[in-house]
Amino acid sequence: MSFQDVRSRAAFERAEKVIPGGVNSPVRAFRAVGRHPVFIERGAGPRLWDIDGNEYIDYVGSWGPLILGHARPEVIKAIKEAAERGTSYGAPTVPETELAEEVLKAYPSMDMVRMVNSGTEATMSALRLARAVTGRSKIVKFEGCYHGHSDQLLIKAGSGALTLGVPTSPGVPEATASTTLSTVYNDLDGLREMFRVQGEDIAAVIVEPVAGNMGVVLPEAGFLEGLRALTQSYGALLIFDEVMTGFRVGYGGAQAHFGIDPDLTCLGKVIGGGLPVGAYGGKRRYLEQIAPSGPVYQAGTLSGNPLAMAAGLATLRLLQKPGTYEGLNAGRRRLADGLAGLARELGIPLQINGVGAMFSLFFTPDPVKDYATALRADAEFFARYFRGMLERGVYLAPSQFEALFVSTAHTERELDFTLEQARATLRSLR
Ligand code: PMP
Repeated sequence: MSFQDVRSRAAFERAEKVIPGGVNSPVRAFRAVGRHPVFIERGAGPRLWDIDGNEYIDYVGSWGPLILGHARPEVIKAIKEAAERGTSYGAPTVPETELAEEVLKAYPSMDMVRMVNSGTEATMSALRLARAVTGRSKIVKFEGCYHGHSDQLLIKAGSGALTLGVPTSPGVPEATASTTLSTVYNDLDGLREMFRVQGEDIAAVIVEPVAGNMGVVLPEAGFLEGLRALTQSYGALLIFDEVMTGFRVGYGGAQAHFGIDPDLTCLGKVIGGGLPVGAYGGKRRYLEQIAPSGPVYQAGTLSGNPLAMAAGLATLRLLQKPGTYEGLNAGRRRLADGLAGLARELGIPLQINGVGAMFSLFFTPDPVKDYATALRADAEFFARYFRGMLERGVYLAPSQFEALFVSTAHTERELDFTLEQARATLRSLR
């Protein structure tokens, strides 16, 4: 059946009248790729179907949570069983402790963890804690990293903020913006100089240990080790934002992969199994400062929600099966190698950055190692590639500055179908 989008177009026009930009999160509007979005009706395994009946192989995976693919039966069963016992109590439940225990087992840097409802809440709360325990006000982030939409973190941010050309959002008070220092990813010298000048005021450095929100950018050898050493010597906290990398780069996240022991860690996406969850945790001496055991206030009506805990627990237990991450890695490599070969064959400049189950494509001849080099990629070519792939049944993240995800549900069949469509698309664009 050929691609049709009459219903999605109408649905979008209807949504635009009542929802800003027609969407509840900006990148979903497809602005960067020059067309209206498709409206999704259902998903199963590696596939999505839209309301016009088009079928896609999905590499967005709800932007990361669906590492097992859509509607994995064990996860759905856990959610159904939880829902039948009630959807929220605002009182403690045993599954909250069970999920906390699973997270701590996988992340030895953490002694305690607090559940929240999104990655935004996790990073915002971790920074409050860092400021409280250091008595300092400034934080350092890296250009092109995205840590959610709290005021202090919408400074030179990645993801949709970057895609839409507003990395620093209007509405962030100058006083708030001035407490966020931003510097270049993979540039230890720049950070060292920043610490030399104002190290006594810096509460924390927050970093995506593998950046995924300017497209995927890997840390160069020594970068994360350097962050650890610098923060330690100045008495600042090192916060790993593993909302995207957690349980994705490997079960133990980027910190296990690179062997780094951060003070605080933020999680999200995978740990909620597709329901709204975030978490932040770390060293006991810090986490004990959180209310009610300490004075640093942070709360949530729906935090530790029983449906979300059930989905998260079911997901983590399935991920523990031997061979899971070998399979995810092999899937990512099969795609990356295939695409690299295609680009060579067709004479199209292409960089592919990836690790574990995340990767991205940059149409540029130069290696991408930070925000400035990511911006050199040909966004217009990417948009054409995106549209071509969509119409051929492959659903990619609708922006150059986003990661693509493989799930355990992507078998060789889907990966090879994707490569065939990439060949046809790239040929047509050459
Ligand atoms: N941190 C990182 C690294 C992220 O990728 C994201 C979301 N893409 C967030 C934080 C914010 O998470 P949420 O959208 O759940 O608020």
